[in-house]
Parts: sequence; C-alpha cells; structure tokens
Amino acid sequence: MTCLPVKKHDVLVVGAGLAGLRTAIELADKHDVAILTKVHPLRSHSVAAQGGINAAIGEDDSWESHAFDTVKGSDYLADQDAVDLLTQEAPHAVIESEQWGTAFSRTAEGRIAQRPFGGAAFPRTCYAADRTGHNLLHTTFEQALRMGITFYNEWFVTSLVRSKGRVCGLTALDIASGEVHGFVARAVVLATGGFGRVYARSTNALINTGDGCALAMRVGVPLKDMEFIQFHPTTLYGSSILITEGARGEGGYLVNSEGQRFMDKYAPDKMELAPRDIVARAIQTEINEGRGFDGEYVHLDLRHLGKEKILKRLPGIREISMHFANTDPVDEPIPIQPGQHYSMGGIHSNKHGETPLPGLYAVGENSCMSVHGANRLGGNSLLETLVFGQIVGQKVSEYLVDAEAPDTTCVEDEEFSVRERLQKLLLNESGESVARIREDMGRTMDRLVGVYRVQTELEEALRRIRVLRSRFHEVAVGHGQRLFNFALIRALELENMLLLAEVIAMGALMRRESRGAHWRTDYPKRDDSGFLKHSLFTLVDDWIKTEYVEVSLGRFEVKERKY
Ligand SMILES: Cc1cc2nc3c(=O)[nH]c(=O)nc-3n(C[C@H](O)[C@H](O)[C@H](O)COP(=O)(O)OP(=O)(O)OC[C@H]3O[C@@H](n4cnc5c(N)ncnc54)[C@H](O)[C@@H]3O)c2cc1C
Repeated sequence: MTCLPVKKHDVLVVGAGLAGLRTAIELADKHDVAILTKVHPLRSHSVAAQGGINAAIGEDDSWESHAFDTVKGSDYLADQDAVDLLTQEAPHAVIESEQWGTAFSRTAEGRIAQRPFGGAAFPRTCYAADRTGHNLLHTTFEQALRMGITFYNEWFVTSLVRSKGRVCGLTALDIASGEVHGFVARAVVLATGGFGRVYARSTNALINTGDGCALAMRVGVPLKDMEFIQFHPTTLYGSSILITEGARGEGGYLVNSEGQRFMDKYAPDKMELAPRDIVARAIQTEINEGRGFDGEYVHLDLRHLGKEKILKRLPGIREISMHFANTDPVDEPIPIQPGQHYSMGGIHSNKHGETPLPGLYAVGENSCMSVHGANRLGGNSLLETLVFGQIVGQKVSEYLVDAEAPDTTCVEDEEFSVRERLQKLLLNESGESVARIREDMGRTMDRLVGVYRVQTELEEALRRIRVLRSRFHEVAVGHGQRLFNFALIRALELENMLLLAEVIAMGALMRRESRGAHWRTDYPKRDDSGFLKHSLFTLVDDWIKTEYVEVSLGRFEVKERKY
C-alpha cells in the first residue's frame, strides 16, 4: 500500500455546524483554514434548531441575570468564568448574525422579538419563527463561502495524530472515493456536535454520533461530565422529533390523562417554563404513576393560543405534528414524551477551547467548557456555538504565532494503519450486524440510563455495553465496495458511540447524587460535599480512568434550586 500525498493547512476544523463555521470564519482572514465535514455543511444538526438563541438585549435584562439563570439552571456545576464570557458576549453574537442576514422575528416596533424560555427570568430567546437554526446556519455558511475557506465535504475524520507532545494532524476517509488521506496542520479544532444517537429515542440527527469525543479520547484527551444527558420534555410520541420549548414559551400547557395541568405540583412558580430537567422528570413521573396516555405519553395543548398565533410563531411545529402524528395542534393536543436531546458533557476544555493536548481545541456541543453544567437552558447552545466559535478562533490564531508546521511524515504511519484497519473491516463478509448492535445499545441506554437512574440498572447497562463492545470486534460491514460505502461509515460511528455509551454509564454509576439532568432514585439529593465536581474520563490503553476535578465557582453562591 502506498500513501497518498499528505494535505497541509494551517488549521483543520472538524465539523461544519455553527461552531465549526464560526471558528473558521474568525481564522480565515489570516490563515489557511480547511473544514472537514462528514455531511454537506447545511445538513449539520445546527440546521434543526428550532426555538431560539439567548441574549440579554431586552431593556430591563442584563448579562448578569442571564449568567445567574444559566448557573442556577446548571445546578451550580457550570464554570462561572465561562458562563460570564458566554452571557457577556451574547448580544454581540446575535447582532453580528442579524447583520449577516439572519431573519429574526420582529416586534411591532421592529426590534428583534424575544420569547420566554425555561429557567429564564426574562423573555430572552431571540428567534426566527421556529426555524432559528436553519436561519443561523445559512447566514453563517454564506460568510464562510465569502471568505474562501476550503471545504472537504463528505470526508469522515477517522483519527487524530499526535507527535512530540502536540497534535500534528489527522486522517480522514473521502467518502466518495473510499480513500484514506493524511492531513497535517499546526492546530486542529474539533466541532463535531453532540452524541445523542447513543440513545434510540433522540431528537438528534442520525449523524450525531460523538465522533469528535471518541477521536479526542483515543489520543489521550479526557472527556468531562459525560453522565449529564439532557432529556427534552417534549418530543413527538412515536418518532421523537423535537417539539420546541418555544411551544411552551408561547403559552402551551402540559396536560395528563386526567385532564390536569400537572406542572403546578412540580414547579408552582415557573409551571411549564421550569428548566428542562424538572419538566422532563415531571412528565416521566406522571407517566410512571399511571396518569399518561397508553402508559407512554402526555399532551401538549396549544389550542388556546389560536390558529393565527400557531401559524405565525410555530408553523414548523404544526407541520411536524400533522405529518408525523396526524394531529393538527390548532384542533387537538400533541402527544409528547421526554427523549434524549443534548449532551452537556464532552471534550475537556477551558473557556478558550484549549484541551490538555497543545494544538487541539474543542468548541460547540462536543466541547465541555463547561457553560451548561448539569443541565443546559434552552437557547444557550446555539449561543455557545457562535460566542465560543469566535473566541476559540482568536485563541487558535494566538497559538499559531509560535507553533511550527509539523513534518508531513508525522501522519504517514497512522494513515497506513487506518487503511489497514478499514480494509480488514471491509473484508469481513459475515459477522455481527452494525444495525443490531446499534439498536441494542440505543435500547439499553433508553431503558437503563434514562431520566431516572438507579445503581442496579446502571450496572446492568454497563455490563450490556461491554458485551456489545466485544461483539463489535466481530462486526461485518456487509459489502466491500470502497466508493460511497455508508455501511462502513455507520460501523465507524457505532464504534465511537459504544465507547461513549460506556463512559456515560460509568459516569452515571459513579455519581451517587442527583443533580440537574442526572437523577438517581437511590440518591435523590444533591451532595455538594461529595460531588460539586466535574467528572473526567481518560482512555489509558483500553481502560477508562476516572477522576473528579474542581468546578470554577464565582459570583453566585451555591444554593438549593427551586422554581
Ligand atoms: C432538534 C434540535 C433542536 C435544537 N434547538 C435548539 C434551539 O432552539 N436553541 C439552542 O440553543 N439549541 C438548540 N439545539 C442544540 C443546538 O442546535 C446544537 O447544540 C448546536 O447546533 C450544535 O452545533 P455544533 O456546531 O456544535 O454541531 P453540529 O451542528 O451538530 O455540527 C457537527 C458537524 O460535525 C461534522 N462531523 C461530525 N463527525 C465528523 C467526522 N467524523 N468527520 C467529519 N465531520 C464530522 C458534521 O458533518 C457536522 O458538520 C437543538 C438541537 C436539536 C437536535
């Protein structure tokens, strides 16, 4: 086997969602930046974001209030210095995007409209109807095109390479040709999004498989707070498609099978607009205690909002309900249940996106800086991608001043061994099915590492995932063709997800307390003396080392969380 010519850029950004694009835009003026993405940029999951993006631009609002809501929402696990940065920079990010052409919804006076979102003291969520991500991604992508950034579309990054104590490049599979290429760069930025597809019932795109987290882990970079998985309270029953929090922001009610608006029992002040962890648990409790429909779902009722408001503010939600649940929310309530939605944990990085490996950065949903702690507030994640995209871009630029270009030979050995590994996978004609293992993994995570968790079930989950990981060694891709072999891509994604599933279950088992989205029925209290800490997971050979590190506290005193 001969190696193909190694490709060379100053910076490689892996991922063309909002985080990757915004980082690359910041760098493109001065440096040769290339973006690798496994799907066309406009198919990144950012495009699916519905409800909006938070910024304290209202008259009586302030970044301090936004910061407080974020820290309280995080159940005090967020790093407060990172939250300060997020909330201070939020208005700039929204205005910049508006100036790039994002079609935000407007008030009668022509200002950017803001809707109330869970856990927020003010209506702070700027939105473009219920298609905010679609708007933001298009305008940001246009800027990236304008700046002449190089795109490798439909290239799947297979590994990172480190040399002399820093990152020196990566290997990637060109999906169209089936060829593996080596890339060298002075810095690499991981922006590969979330890993929701570790669960079967998820609002995430099928491509959200946590590749960046697995890539980082395999070069010795720790993952952080992986046990904190956000379950969105309202996903459409039967398909798990997201029904935005904006539906409750606009005034929607949650109702059980006895016709009761039950949130008064769980969050009497905030009702349906309590943070997501609290609303998801309330719904699950109603279902578990027999007040759901068919033992599976409750109702989200929008009928009292009236047809005009639904058509104007929630047109996408109406379409989704009609197409996928045969329900027109103008006339009938929408059947909903909680489902996996967001990954609070991710690659261990500081507020500048720096990981412990020099030259390697993480930004967006695959990073854990951590601004969301144990529970993310809706609208803060789109914000994170744009704010930290810009900041990480600036930090990479500073790093490049002294970073020498690596020798192209540094990736050759890795390129060779990835080719060999893929070849072996392709030659395996019969064996375990990728789809079957993926289904078993998803079901295991849904049932045993879900909204409510308990030691015996977590141990069982861990045992089952380890069995699945060993079954993966016998996996057969099904056909050996090299061009556009998506079966091969699904296998590589599954391998990544199995590693993350093990880490999530380990983290959930270790954390013997309930905080934010992580609820242990056997340890139903928050334990600040034992667990006001971030968990870290490092791959050492094939063994996962775990430890806890301090949270960066700040202006807001740690208190009991009530809504
Ligand atoms: C249905 C839905 C609705 C949401 N609504 C909101 C909302 O209203 N407000 C809010 O704040 N947040 C919302 N979120 C969360 C928010 O949209 C995401 O957290 C955010 O957009 C993630 O952006 P990102 O750039 O980090 O990743 P993504 O947009 O997911 O992009 C990831 C990129 O990485 C690339 N990639 C991945 N693996 C590889 C690989 N191996 N090789 C090469 N490329 C790779 C992909 O091709 C893609 O380009 C929502 C999420 C979902 C699922």
